[in-house]
Amino acid sequence: MDKQQEFVLRTLEERDIRFVRLWFTDVLGFLKSVAVAPAELEQAFDEGMGFDGSAIEGFARVYESDMIAKPDPGTFQILPWRAEAPGTARMFCDILMPDGSPSYADPRYVLKRALARASDLGFTFYIHPEIEFFLLKDKPVDGTRPTPADSSGYFDHTPQNVGMDFRRQAITMLESMGISVEFSHHEGAPGQQEIDLRYADALSTADNIMTFRLVMKQVALEQGVQATFMPKPFSEYPGSGMHTHLSLFEGDRNAFYESGAEYQLSKVGRSFIAGLLQHAGEISAVTNQWVNSYKRIWGGANRTAGEGGESPSYICWGHNNRSALVRVPMYKPGKTGSTRIEMRSLDAGANPYLAYAVLLAAGLKGIEEGYELPPGADDDVWALSDAERRAMGIEPLPQNLGEAISLMERSELVAQTLGEHVFDFFLRNKKQEWEEYRSEVTAFELRKSLPVL
Ligand code: GLU
Ligand code: MG
Ligand code: MG
Repeated sequence: MDKQQEFVLRTLEERDIRFVRLWFTDVLGFLKSVAVAPAELEQAFDEGMGFDGSAIEGFARVYESDMIAKPDPGTFQILPWRAEAPGTARMFCDILMPDGSPSYADPRYVLKRALARASDLGFTFYIHPEIEFFLLKDKPVDGTRPTPADSSGYFDHTPQNVGMDFRRQAITMLESMGISVEFSHHEGAPGQQEIDLRYADALSTADNIMTFRLVMKQVALEQGVQATFMPKPFSEYPGSGMHTHLSLFEGDRNAFYESGAEYQLSKVGRSFIAGLLQHAGEISAVTNQWVNSYKRIWGGANRTAGEGGESPSYICWGHNNRSALVRVPMYKPGKTGSTRIEMRSLDAGANPYLAYAVLLAAGLKGIEEGYELPPGADDDVWALSDAERRAMGIEPLPQNLGEAISLMERSELVAQTLGEHVFDFFLRNKKQEWEEYRSEVTAFELRKSLPVL
């Protein structure tokens, strides 16, 4: 038994932890959990815990359903909302096949494979996510409109605002689970919040996002409200994005930094951005995986600020240009570590393991193939006409999930990165969602057409 495993077993005893939840993530990014008694844990560390994979979205077919969850002791944390003795703790798991080999269906393994490729090239991958979400009074399931939990706006600091208490309690809980928070504020729409995590390696960040979503929902319930990561719950308010700051390090050197270069951005950094732009369309179904995701990232001059709310809709990059898909944030002098790029399309309804894997793969492809970075866009690209954008070679992001699926289907890069199993399952599942959506006659159509036709 290694030191981390010993630490876990000792803590269980000292803190009177009676339940250990083994966590893993299905292909669509939903958290799964099985609780084991502490007495079983030694064996779980050795051999893993068997479970029926066919019951988990995207994991296995019925005839090959035996799978094993093997806890990663480095991810052990006590759940703060279950801390009083007898307490509950959790660990993330790797999913294995009965013969002990890693399961190709496990999103965590998809990301680990992508990270191993980066590591072969000498890089470690760091991520700093800005996570936006809504607090709602209710979560109606019959398709009626929810009600935001407050009526504040951007950076508002209003006493007796549910958001303030919420953010304090939520951040305290995250910090007690070893997840560092850098910024938090009220976002632009009523009920909308943003919490930004401190940068960490990509695997830890993906684990942290799974924890984050659960903690936000838990704290919301305690305060009598509901949290949602749905990308665009309201037509007239901005959606919720998960802008993602990315950097590559070579040892302790930031590989995106070059003193004296434009925006202090190295050639490696430029090629990485070029890779993100070149492959933005085909990875879109993974970074923005829901029908609803595309209601957030559409539009040009005719969309109002409220509707779009600084979400990107065109494939271009810029320095400090919030209408661009990729932004190179202002460089902070004296901090060589701070050169990074911000990818603004992601939403928090993505599976973070798969999303980080495809972002990394796209960027690395740019580096390996030496892609040239096209000129940056300084204009507000939302305000340009279609013809002006076309003349500048700026394409829109996929307009809807259907378009994103057809681009993904033809993508060698995404197929290789996700592996055949996840690629096939994901496409099948998303096609089904798109078909269900297309076949539905909506309230919009009835309102628009019935009175006049
Ligand atoms: N809510 C916006 C989005 O959907 C982002 C606002 C911001 O710049 O933080 O991307
Ligand atoms: Mg924001
Ligand atoms: Mg941002």
